[in-house]
Amino acid sequence: MPTLFERIVTGELPGDIVYQDDEITAFRDIEPAAPVHVLVVPNEPVATANDLEERHDAVVGRMLRVAAKIARDEGIAESGYRLIVNCNEHGGQEVFHLHLHLVGGRSLGPMLPRPRKG
Ligand code: 5GP
Repeated sequence: MPTLFERIVTGELPGDIVYQDDEITAFRDIEPAAPVHVLVVPNEPVATANDLEERHDAVVGRMLRVAAKIARDEGIAESGYRLIVNCNEHGGQEVFHLHLHLVGGRSLGPMLPRPRKG
């Protein structure tokens, strides 16, 4: 079964695509957490970060570079942004097709709430 994101990559499902090449597709998150919230995915699915192999090194590096290009195109490169990869249950991963969240366009606050001391 193709993943949800594969179906967006191939055009079977609609997606607000902001970038696409033969290896990578980027589209706007359906439920954005910030003014800019774009998902950057490899066209060929990899389920989680745990499933990455050496052969994926180039595409993962390219995902970072494409995310930085999109940040520039969206006008948030200078103000800043965050890149997030969630993995499995504790990481809050919902879609099992590796993806990089590019979020920005407002101050995002601390990376994670820290546990209270004492
Ligand atoms: P995860 O929790 O797996 O890291 O992130 C999955 C993301 O996919 C969520 O931010 C969610 O809003 C987004 N998402 C889920 N279904 C769709 C969809 O059909 N289209 C788009 N564009 N994003 C989706």
